[in-house]
Amino acid sequence: MLTLECPYCGVTAEETELAPGYEAHLKRFGPGSTDEQFNDYMFARKNPKGVHFERWRHAYGCGKWFLAARCTATLEVFGTYPAQVGAPPEDIIAKIKARRPEWVME
Ligand SMILES: [Zn+2]
Repeated sequence: MLTLECPYCGVTAEETELAPGYEAHLKRFGPGSTDEQFNDYMFARKNPKGVHFERWRHAYGCGKWFLAARCTATLEVFGTYPAQVGAPPEDIIAKIKARRPEWVME
């Protein structure tokens, strides 16, 4: 079972206590964007087998949204961090590169 530590309340929560919010760090497109940009924002997702950055909500805890870096194939968690950042923190990137030297950030 997937377990993630909520960066706000510090609780290590099981997957059943969390609600998924899917891909993190999406670049949003709205009015003024092209149809292709808006289509990609609405429907195109990476869905990789491997390192992935996701949004999660501590639904049966503090209720806050946070982000997690994990491997979708092994459920290995590299870290969680607050949702109010535009990119993954450097310490989490370093942890991923230490464990997955072949990985490159897209
Ligand atoms: Zn929490």
